[in-house]
Amino acid sequence: MQQAALDSHGLQGWRYELLAMPPHEMQMMLNTLRAKDCVGANVTIPYKQAIIPFLDQVSETASKIGAVNTVYKQGETLVGENTDAPGFMQSLRQCGVEANEARAVVLGAGGAAAAVAFALASAGARHLAIINRSSTRAEELASRLRQHFPLVEISPNRMEALERADIIVNATSIGMAPDPDFSPLPAGQAIAPRSTIVDLVYNPPQTKFMREAARAGARCIGGLEMLVYQGAISFQMWTGREAPLPVMRAAAENALKGQG
Ligand code: NAP
Repeated sequence: MQQAALDSHGLQGWRYELLAMPPHEMQMMLNTLRAKDCVGANVTIPYKQAIIPFLDQVSETASKIGAVNTVYKQGETLVGENTDAPGFMQSLRQCGVEANEARAVVLGAGGAAAAVAFALASAGARHLAIINRSSTRAEELASRLRQHFPLVEISPNRMEALERADIIVNATSIGMAPDPDFSPLPAGQAIAPRSTIVDLVYNPPQTKFMREAARAGARCIGGLEMLVYQGAISFQMWTGREAPLPVMRAAAENALKGQG
């Protein structure tokens, strides 16, 4: 997706490459990022939190979320940003979904769940329930959120919130390939017919959770939308150019078809 965007701008010689990295080489990785011919990076599991102390600067959003997924440069300064949160909001907006005053449930309490929960609270959600396998992690996220959003009602691990939610987001990895036959919802769980569900899982594009929610009459948004939008924001930070969204979406879809 990123390489297709670089190519479509004719940025010859620019490469978006995977750099696999053992944990003890974090400092070496930072030296790579500081090299003159590098404009930035995406950071993924398990380094989204671990990279923070190594950066020169971290944006307010990334620091509240506690996770960096994009590094870019301002001069020589390495800046950490989180584009998952605005990417998620853009995926809601393009489907006409309003988070202001919403009752929302976030399933999960990892990095993506934190980004989504902060985005929803920032957008004026009235109530946020955080439900996670490890209840301690849900309580920790809820307590961090309360510090930043004292006016939002935030409750960890309240399953009954699902039935009345306007927006339900799967921010766990349940349903992701190679185990697509699982859903983050308990069997038989009721959800409101006019709710919107967002599955951050993008492989497969149609998850079991999305199929269940569609049967209940909910509107469904797949993870590919957020993937493309968060990537587009990163692209703009690295290149200063507008991200070619259709090119990026088509490249992502093709890559996922290839993984089949
Ligand atoms: P993470 O920090 O590792 O968190 C994983 C979450 O999934 C945790 O809440 C974990 O619960 C839960 N989980 C994992 N396996 C589970 C299971 N078998 N049963 C119940 N809960 C389980 O990962 P992340 O970065 O937040 O990513 C989460 C998902 O979001 C992934 O599928 C990722 O691909 C997706 N994502 C999508 C986008 C996008 O642009 N569409 C962006 C970022 C992430 P515990 O705390 O109990 O372990």
